[in-house]
Amino acid sequence: MADIIQLLPDHVANQIAAGEVVQRPASVVKELLENAIDAKATSIKLVIKDAGKTLVQIIDNGKGMSVTDARLCFERHATSKIRKAEDLFNIHTKGFRGEALASIAAIAHVELKTKPEEDEIGTHICIEGSNVNSQEPVVVPTGTTISVKNLFYNIPARRNFLKSNPVETRHIIDEFHRVALAHPKIEFIMISNGASIFNLPSSNIRQRIVNIFGAKTNEKLVPVSEETDIVVVDGFINKPAFAKKSRGEQFFFVNNRYIKSPYLHHAILSAFEGLIKEGTQPGYFLFLEVDPQSIDINIHPTKTEIKFDDEHSIYAMLRATIKHSLGQFSIAPVLDFNKDSGLETPYDYNNKKPVPPTIEVDRNFNPFQKETSQGSYNSSFKRDKTSSWEAMYVGLENGASTEKFSKHDLKFESDEVTGKLFETNDNVSGRSTFQLQKKYIISPVKSGMMVIHQNLAHQRVLYEELLKNITVKEAVSQQLLFPLQIHLSHIDIAIIKGIQEQLEHTGFVFSSFKIDSLEISGIPVNITESQISNILVQLINDINDEIPEPGFSQNDLLAKSLAKSFAVKTGKSLNTEEQEHLIHQLFACKEPTISPTNKPVLITIDASDLDKKFM
Ligand code: ADP
Ligand code: MG
Repeated sequence: MADIIQLLPDHVANQIAAGEVVQRPASVVKELLENAIDAKATSIKLVIKDAGKTLVQIIDNGKGMSVTDARLCFERHATSKIRKAEDLFNIHTKGFRGEALASIAAIAHVELKTKPEEDEIGTHICIEGSNVNSQEPVVVPTGTTISVKNLFYNIPARRNFLKSNPVETRHIIDEFHRVALAHPKIEFIMISNGASIFNLPSSNIRQRIVNIFGAKTNEKLVPVSEETDIVVVDGFINKPAFAKKSRGEQFFFVNNRYIKSPYLHHAILSAFEGLIKEGTQPGYFLFLEVDPQSIDINIHPTKTEIKFDDEHSIYAMLRATIKHSLGQFSIAPVLDFNKDSGLETPYDYNNKKPVPPTIEVDRNFNPFQKETSQGSYNSSFKRDKTSSWEAMYVGLENGASTEKFSKHDLKFESDEVTGKLFETNDNVSGRSTFQLQKKYIISPVKSGMMVIHQNLAHQRVLYEELLKNITVKEAVSQQLLFPLQIHLSHIDIAIIKGIQEQLEHTGFVFSSFKIDSLEISGIPVNITESQISNILVQLINDINDEIPEPGFSQNDLLAKSLAKSFAVKTGKSLNTEEQEHLIHQLFACKEPTISPTNKPVLITIDASDLDKKFM
């Protein structure tokens, strides 16, 4: 038989290797950032266009490459970081496989400009699908700039497989966070489609966390620090009160490399046991230093998983250390003397003189007098002239949509309007519904009785309403007397900006966006000002959890999240009119029986079932 085995040509081998190393633009970002760090850069700039699909560019001021190295770096297994097998057990750099640049050059248009300190002239190389198209001298500053254009241009299947721009950008930002958190001393800048997304000056780790996640983060952090023979732990955990439903801010670094370790994650969770609500997740930023010889980083091509020699001891130690920090924190408040006080005070207050507190005494107050004017609403709603619950019904009369309301009408949103609203229930003869445990509305039906979950029912009503507004582009909003300023992290601001239009269709009016805050001057009619901050945070969490696709499902997610936030809660007393109105609206819905999150809204109990109970 003739010989049939052949060696694969290099460009084919490189393409195959690329499949492992480069899954998406974010993988390119990770590899190039790591190379810049290995090159000892002190300032690194990341520029992306179209979520990295059109361009990923990294500009560093590191040590650069000689002419020969510039050519060689694109060869497979070309690395300056290890020389012999033993070096594998003593890794101090991010990279060492010598595969990244070869892989990337096999599947994109790559341009490299680089110059080492000692040379006058640098090197400019253009390479496409592993073919070097040009190599010439160039005048550039010391350091390296790599531009990766049109990723997967020669593998259409991979290119089509990429997700929408918001999703791919999210992945890139995640990688950027991981690298930037692990290297607070290095300055990082990120620019996306010409807009500055992050500008992180060289700082300590606490400031880096705050610069990335927003000034509000500072108060959440509890320091963690411990040193044993096998491991040094440093970093921060979030106070238990700030635990979130979503995973969000969980960062675990080993020797300054971001690592996923379900096992050690569990150690952290178990330290928080009993301190956070079930189903919520603690935030953490933990840095472990171990002897490089005691770990194996090589078990995953993207190097996000490692193997520890002594995993059990690290588990126990991590758990104990965090428990200790949590314990200390709950006994004595943590003082941070390094804290930049500017982070604490809102800008508006910086130069204000303190105002002496005033005491108001209500001389007519009589503790034995019953509250009268507030009807069935509990006292926490006293502040609002119009209760939030009544406000929900403004404009929704007889299933009429809010579209008919102009801003002018809304100025009069008060007792008058709501009073009129409930008069329409005249036709209901007598009392036909009642509320059970401030949670269910019971209503008789022909075959027996119906039990309606008030919160889920209202979610359904609002969901359909919101979805219609978002897609039909009808805005109804109430003007705020004073614009409301909300502080969020850069990334959260970017998320809100991305859905600004849809939010405006639901009634939000944004008057300005800054890098870490936004200003709201109008809000949907069915919510109050004090709810806004929580609603936005919930929305951002929901978006982060689901990573929506553009188009239909994003609107759907938005409507679901807002419906959940706006809906009347369990624990709220509803009077008969309110109960009936809700039922009325519910049955005007397209799908009255299931909630937006697919839970049953109502059940019916047949009289025959009741009969059986009495036999
Ligand atoms: P690895 O990082 O595993 O060594 P890469 O393919 O990522 O493999 O890079 C190959 C080599 O190119 C590196 O070992 C390094 O010597 C050189 N190199 C890559 N990027 C840079 C950079 N930004 N500055 C200086 N040298 C670089
Ligand atoms: Mg590398």
